[in-house]
This record gives sequence, C-alpha cells and structure tokens, in this order.
Amino acid sequence: MSEKISGIIASPGIRIGKAHVYKTSEAIIPKYSIREENIEAEIERYKKSLEKTKDEIKTIQEQIARSLSKDMADIFTSHLMVLEDPIVTEKAISRIRFERKNAEWIINDITLDLIQNLGGIEDEYLRERIIDISDINKRLINNLQKRPGESLKDIQEEVIIISKDLTPSDTATMDRRRILAFVTDKGGRTSHTAIMARALEIPAIVGTHTTTSAVREGDTVIVDAIHGNVIINPTENELREYHEYIKDLRRLDRELAKITRLPSTTLDDVEIRILGNIEIPEEMSLIKEHSAQGIGLFRSEFLFLDRSLPDEEKQYQEYRKVVEFFNPLPVTIRTLDVGGDKIYSYNKEQRERNPFLGCRAIRFSLEHEDLFRTQIRSILRASAHGNVKMMIPMISTVEEIIRSRNITLECMDELRQESVPFNENIPIGIMVEVPSAILSADRFSKYADFFSVGTNDLVQYTLAVDRISEKIAYLYNPLDLSVLRFLKQIVETSKHCDVPLSICGEIAGEPKYTMLLIGLGFREFSMSTAYMYQVKRIIRSVTSAECEDLVKTLMNMEKTSEIENKLFEVMRARFPWLSI
Ligand code: PEP
Ligand code: MG
Repeated sequence: MSEKISGIIASPGIRIGKAHVYKTSEAIIPKYSIREENIEAEIERYKKSLEKTKDEIKTIQEQIARSLSKDMADIFTSHLMVLEDPIVTEKAISRIRFERKNAEWIINDITLDLIQNLGGIEDEYLRERIIDISDINKRLINNLQKRPGESLKDIQEEVIIISKDLTPSDTATMDRRRILAFVTDKGGRTSHTAIMARALEIPAIVGTHTTTSAVREGDTVIVDAIHGNVIINPTENELREYHEYIKDLRRLDRELAKITRLPSTTLDDVEIRILGNIEIPEEMSLIKEHSAQGIGLFRSEFLFLDRSLPDEEKQYQEYRKVVEFFNPLPVTIRTLDVGGDKIYSYNKEQRERNPFLGCRAIRFSLEHEDLFRTQIRSILRASAHGNVKMMIPMISTVEEIIRSRNITLECMDELRQESVPFNENIPIGIMVEVPSAILSADRFSKYADFFSVGTNDLVQYTLAVDRISEKIAYLYNPLDLSVLRFLKQIVETSKHCDVPLSICGEIAGEPKYTMLLIGLGFREFSMSTAYMYQVKRIIRSVTSAECEDLVKTLMNMEKTSEIENKLFEVMRARFPWLSI
C-alpha cells in the first residue's frame, strides 16, 4: 500500500524518483570550559569561523547572481547582515570572555534565543526567517569544527530530496540535473526556499509535516506538485497512471505550445486577451514565451521581503527591467499589498487581531505615505521606458482613490521640477476585490482608469471566509451565487461606465472556469503561466454565446454544490483532457 501526504505547492511540476533523505545533520554542540589563558585564542577561533562563513555565503551569492539573477542572490544579503551584525558579534565575544565557554556552545545559545523569539510570532514571513538563522548557525558551527557540511551539490545521482526543511543555501546549491524535486516537512509559500525553487523550476512541495517520518532512503516517491500530493512507495497501478499522466502532460504541453502564436479568440471571433501575473521579475521570460499580451498584475511585494526597505532607485531599476522587456506591451505594476497573509517585517510591532480586515494594502500605503511616495515615484520613472499602468490594491472607499491620485499628482509635480521624465498619462487603476468596490463601482469609476478584479480576496470578503484557513476551506468557493452575481455586476458597471476591466485572481488562470468567465463577460484575463495554454485552447474552442447560456443556467441554480457540479460536468464533457 502506498501512502499519500499532502502539502503546499511551492513550485509546480510532477516527478517520480528515488528518495534521498537529506538530514540537515543536527550539529553536535559540545559544551566545555575555556581556561583563562585560552580565552583570546577561543575568540580568535570564533572570528575565523565568522570570516569563513561570510566567505562561503558570498561565494554562494556570486554563484546565484551568475546562474540566476541578482534578486535571487540578494536573498543572502539578510544572512550576511546577521553575520555582520555588531550586536550579535559583540554579544558572542563578551559571552565567551565572561562565561568562559567554547564558541560553538555560545553561538548556538544565542541562535536558540533568536529563534525562540521569532518562533512565537504569528507573522509567516518572520517565522520563515528562522530557517535563515539556522542556516548561518549550522555553517558557523561546521566551520568551528572544521567539518564540511553535507551539501546537496555533492549528490551524484538523480534523486528526490526529502528533508525536514531546506535552507536557502541548500536550495541555491542544488544541481538541477540531479535533483528532480524536493519535499519538506516545514516551510510555506513565502519562504526563500520556495521562491528559489520556483525560480530554478524545481518542483517542490513544502509544509507536509510528516514526510520525513514516512519516507526511507531509496523509497520510490511521486511528487505531484500539480495537486500538492506526495505518494510514497506507489503501487504498480499508481506508477503506471502517473507515467501516463506525465506523458499526457508533455503531449498536451507540446500540443498546447503550438497554439502560442494563434490568436486568442473564440469561435465567434470575440477576442479574449491573455496577460501574465508575476511575483518576481525572473518570471517575465516565461510569460513572454507563452505569448502573453503584457503583464496584468506585477505584484511588488517581492521587493519588500527583506528587512531593509528598497529605495526609489532600486525599485525603479526593478520595474524598468520588466517594463523595457515588454515594451510596447503593458505592464501593470501593483503598489504594495502588505498585511493580511503577506509579509510586513517592518510593521511587526503592530500585530492585528484581524489582519485581513486591518491595515492592509492601500490602507498601509496611506498610513506610511513616505513609503508610498517612494514607490509611486519609482513607478512613474519606470513609465518613461514603456507602457506602464499603476494599480492600487484593496480599494474600499472613494477617498482612498482620490488620495492616491492626489499623491501621484504631487509626485508628478516633483519629478517635473527635477526634470525627470515620466508618462504624464499613466493609467491609474484599482483592484476590485472588496464588495464595496463592486457596489459603488459607478462612483469609483470617475477616478479609476481601469478595474482589475481580484477574486482571491473578493471571495473571502464576500463570504467572510479567511482565504488561508484550512478549517473553513470548504466554504471558500468562487462559484457561490453571491460571487457570480458580484462578477456579473462589475462587468455590467464597467461597460456602463466605460472603464476597461480585467480579472487577475487565480480563477482567471484555471481552465475549469474559462467558459464561466467568458460567459460572464470578461474579455481580459491575467494569470500565471501554469495553465495559460489550456485556457487559450478553451477560448479557441467555444463560442461566447454558449458560454453565456451556460452562465444563465448556472445562475438559475441555488446551491454552490449544484453550480459546481453542473459547471464541471460541462467542462469535463467538452474538454476530456482537463484534470478537474
Ligand atoms: C486577488 O486578491 O485576487 C489578487 C489577485 O491579489 P492577491 O492574491 O495578491 O491578494
Ligand atoms: Mg488581493
């Protein structure tokens, strides 16, 4: 009998292979006293290991900058910051001096304190930094003991890595040809390890809790990072099915890739524009390869992952890179959407009881106006290099758009005075992801140059269901009649008010919803590349009229389960290759 464990998809794909259980070997920490006359030598030993560790991190950083990108390499800047933090170094030296204990023990004790302080914190981003600190600790201790740490780059055969957790430096040094995929017990979507896996295109599932205790060295494992499952010691049947599935996916991908250059129009000639969603600039090439017609959502949170805030120049350079790459196609840069489940390391003192209903996105930006102005200036500067649109997340009142526009106008004045070029007519749009924005869209339309519907949040705010709660996940369904009514309403209002509309929530990129969205009247979809080809294939095989009929049928139903069954039944029948 096989065993199936589920987890969070950190990087998509399916792989089958032999497991290598990677023991991030718990360092052995000796504890002994140092004689007075040897104290300075012990401090010297500590300093040497510190230097060696810094060198190692810098080497990894350079490697990553060469093989991937500077942004990815920057992930290790926070490692270096901890290593170079004078408070930590002073503390270690004075503790060695006064407690007269060996460096390994003191360093480990300081690390445990740091980790304990972070462990109780609710913020996912900060908790993820524990792994960065453990990474440094392990390296320091290995260097003190002159033990080379086990490294993933030494692996000689094709394996699937199973580990409690992986440090960013583990992931960064992986040999893509040998490491087919990895699975970890810990970790979340925002961990540096997950971001790195996506950039390296290594399929990965994290946060599985129990995989390391269920897998033994050499076990056969299927990593299904399409559905989020790890299958341990699959049966002959499962293996056969998955091999078939992989073949099908490859065949489908090849077939679908052929339609890249074909127009994205329905059989009755209705054009449906497909744009891309990106979280890090590294994704832009993939989006272009898929022939997307620009970027409909460029999330800017990646710039704010580290403790230090990105300055105007850094932001400008990052935006400019993407804007120039796509010019003349549009790039829609969304201002910071911090709060909720997203990082805010510099806002940690203000923990909120209901972060999703709290100081999130535009609310945060308006509260931290300096930060907002810096971002707006850098977006405006990038607008001189191509087709930039600026988008404000989580607008819930008209005042928020008016204030945002006024601040933008002031930033424009400043730039004009400084003779810095920018696009005077840059479109400023809003995310429509809160019910108030739909109900009052006619009013908001006076101040918004475009609308983009964020269904990920719209569903949670319409149904009062926390989008990240596993416990009530069964209630989170975009097919609820209330959500469909909202979607229909925003399409109608945007038509009536003549405001361009697009949709950029996850459902825009899920083929099982494509007919529904066309039928509701959406004509511009923004999505990640995962199912772009499939969505296009569906667009090219339907008529807008049949999609409208389908929507009519669905919207006459009551229960969400009925709507879902009917829609998926139709989709399965029309597109047997779809996995629903
Ligand atoms: C959304 O809410 O649908 C959206 C696209 O934004 P995010 O997932 O970043 O909140
Ligand atoms: Mg959102």
